[in-house]
Amino acid sequence: MPDTEIAFIGLGIMGLPMAVNLVRAGYTVTGHNLTPERVDALVAEGGRRGGGVTGAVTGADVVITMVPDSPDVEELLLGPGGVYENAKPGTLVIDMSTIRPDVSRAVAEAGAERGLRVLDAPVSGGEAGAVEAKLSIMVGGVQADFEAARPIFDVLGTTPVLVGPNGAGQTVKAANQLIVAGNIQLLAEALVFLEAHGVDTESGLEVLGGGLAGSTVLQRKGRAMRERDFTPGFRIALHDKDMRIVTDSARAAGVAIPLGAQVAQSVAALKNQGHGGLDHSALLMIVQQLSGRS
Ligand code: NAD
Repeated sequence: MPDTEIAFIGLGIMGLPMAVNLVRAGYTVTGHNLTPERVDALVAEGGRRGGGVTGAVTGADVVITMVPDSPDVEELLLGPGGVYENAKPGTLVIDMSTIRPDVSRAVAEAGAERGLRVLDAPVSGGEAGAVEAKLSIMVGGVQADFEAARPIFDVLGTTPVLVGPNGAGQTVKAANQLIVAGNIQLLAEALVFLEAHGVDTESGLEVLGGGLAGSTVLQRKGRAMRERDFTPGFRIALHDKDMRIVTDSARAAGVAIPLGAQVAQSVAALKNQGHGGLDHSALLMIVQQLSGRS
């Protein structure tokens, strides 16, 4: 889709490298972000400056949003001066933020009423996945819109999958966040356990990584956790938001998630201690505290 004009709103840890990858693939990308320095970074890579939602969206064929939370998406899409007010009929609106499934369904319905084609397309793979264009993309919507968006998804990631109607992408993403949080928690416990036994954790993690205990979490977070480098990455505040989505959705469906509920408590505790800006691998700090090890 070389002639496709893309508006990209939300140029944070994930959005900026994703937008840059679209520029490098030859798309015309007009960016907008609350803090203008992130737009400067996109412009330096060949993108355009939207100067606001209206400037970014007017004339765009595709609008991608990548903002933190459900209220941000609602405000950005439905609010006064927002995307829906400015987008031309037929525009493909792809929300790649991680938000509540019911909100994704509601904004898709509101979009359809205005003649817009809306997909929820949350991602997994972290900052590295965004930079390396290796994201998993979990898409909710209709097949024709998924096919229309597919060339864009192919630039951003390796595994775009249509998993069901609007909202289904977010439900799969919630499951993803449940698995990731549990993985990090157990890796943190294993690390503190190894340290307490005086085992060299570098070689310990190396061999664990080659067996059934190996995981993408271990590969991507192991070294930083050993070194206590909790630079985000994925902020605890965002994972707290996601664990709320997971626990609410599980309760609504009558599903017990005892382990997930417990990890959700640790994520919330970390945030309440003022560590919401750290990477989610900082769950290790809670394990240390509980173990009386500083
Ligand atoms: P971030 O906080 O780094 O970036 C969000 C950006 O959106 C910020 O630059 C902010 O200024 C901008 N923004 C917020 N509201 C806006 C608005 N109304 N208009 C314009 N810009 C606005 O967050 P992130 O880590 O990039 O995450 C974005 C989304 O992706 C979240 O829903 C998150 O859960 C999800 N996600 C993050 C990761 C990760 O590893 N960081 C991985 C997968 C999914």
